[in-house]
Amino acid sequence: NVKAQIMDAEKMRRALIRIAHEILERNKGTENLVLVGIRRRGVPLAERLQRIIEEIEGVKLPLGILDITLYRDDLTTLSSHPIIHRTEIPFNITGKKVVLVDDVLFTGRTVRAALDALMDLGRPQNIQLAVLIDRGHRELPIRADYVGKNVPTSLKEEIAVQVKEIDGVDQVLIRAL
Ligand code: 5GP
Ligand code: MG
Repeated sequence: NVKAQIMDAEKMRRALIRIAHEILERNKGTENLVLVGIRRRGVPLAERLQRIIEEIEGVKLPLGILDITLYRDDLTTLSSHPIIHRTEIPFNITGKKVVLVDDVLFTGRTVRAALDALMDLGRPQNIQLAVLIDRGHRELPIRADYVGKNVPTSLKEEIAVQVKEIDGVDQVLIRAL
């Protein structure tokens, strides 16, 4: 269970500030922009992006939550089934530019399920993806538009994303399964 720290609090802070600027640049501001965090740790990350964007632009973006769990025997099997538990998106996403936010992008199955859930709710103008860590090993043609850090991993490794709101500390670790 060897651990190495791949991101500390300061690096996480800077990565989120950079992503916030990239979102604003690509979308030419905040018009029609909304954030949707994927539970669990995508939510505090989305809230931080919301706060940073508010500090830059003076606009507080609507923020929704998707609760999606992956049932997989272990993190290395391909046979995982995303289950959508709950959606808390108390605004209309039709015509909106939706930025999905998650902590780790791996096979892409969670994002695929999130896209299904969003498109059941309305007809967004577009959907973009922001992740703190891209650990590779995609099984679907899905990529992130905004990436905090690319971390090439082995299937025998796991990324631990820890955020103050949930874990009491901001850091990202890599550990052997
Ligand atoms: P995917 O659906 O892309 O296979 O996996 C992404 C989802 O599973 C994300 O919601 C993420 O929270 C979780 N996940 C997958 N791999 C890891 C990992 O190595 N570490 C952490 N913390 N979460 C992971
Ligand atoms: Mg998750």
